Amino acid sequence: DEMDVDTIWMDGEFVDWEDAQIHVLTHGLHYGSGIFEGARCYDTEEGPAIFRWEEHLERFYQSAKPYEMEIDHTAAELTEATLELIRRQDLASCYIRPIAFYGYESLGVSPGDCPTKTAIAAWPWGTYLGEDALENGIDVMVSSWRKHASSQIPTNAKTTGLYVNSMLAGEEARRNGYAEAIVLNKEGDVAEGPGENLFLVRDGELYTPGLSESILDGITRDTVITLAEDLGYTVHDNVSISRGELNTADELFFTGSAAEVTPIRKVDNVVIGDGSRGPVTEEIQSKFFEVVERRTDEYDEWFDYV
Ligand code: PMP
Repeated sequence: DEMDVDTIWMDGEFVDWEDAQIHVLTHGLHYGSGIFEGARCYDTEEGPAIFRWEEHLERFYQSAKPYEMEIDHTAAELTEATLELIRRQDLASCYIRPIAFYGYESLGVSPGDCPTKTAIAAWPWGTYLGEDALENGIDVMVSSWRKHASSQIPTNAKTTGLYVNSMLAGEEARRNGYAEAIVLNKEGDVAEGPGENLFLVRDGELYTPGLSESILDGITRDTVITLAEDLGYTVHDNVSISRGELNTADELFFTGSAAEVTPIRKVDNVVIGDGSRGPVTEEIQSKFFEVVERRTDEYDEWFDYV
């Protein structure tokens, strides 16, 4: 396997990679009835530190709610399991993937007595959108696929089944030579990326689609809003952004636990700003990395040290 993992935490135990198995009649496999998280642990002067773990765990439990999924482990247990997973594998920095899903009991759509299975994996993971994405930005396309509306499926829950939409949009973009997609919501306004939130810069102010635009309530989105406001920027975080506004933006960037802060230089081959990482994006991105790498004492409450 190309994932450099030897230990996985599963249902309360640390198991070897090859023993972390599930049954082919697992409910979550058939119906997408799983919820998950993606967090990063950064290599800092004080050793590995998980960024905004509490918020990720909180969203994990919240995501389970619409599906009436009871996670059999407390936040304290999941935290200890994660810290131990990082220690056991001696990871300096890593991506962390907790998941909970309905297992096998019966195969009706109703999960009935299906047990909830819970697992956590951690592995080293570099830049999500390619080596030079952070510095030079990426080219994206507006997907022909629309994001599901929050009236059709809870988009504020990080549910496994939702990600077939992300896959369709992302793969369509890559098939057409772009690094990633921007997905519009059912109304035709900008929602987000397949695994990222989106920010627009215009006349020195920041704009990002509001929570009612069928987006995931991203933790990096929240981080960037906080950092930008603390840097003195005005952030409009409850707006609708029309497709055309993408083209006329001074700057655009994606945010996400995997994507971090990734500049966008072209949308549908229309050059955004001057076609490189813009000055506002650069300032926020460099603040973001200063914070997550703990090159500052600020925002220490956002970290769990391993
Ligand atoms: N939107 C979607 C659809 C996502 O999958 C993600 C990644 N979790 C994000 C936005 C960004 O969220 P976060 O910053 O919490 O990783």
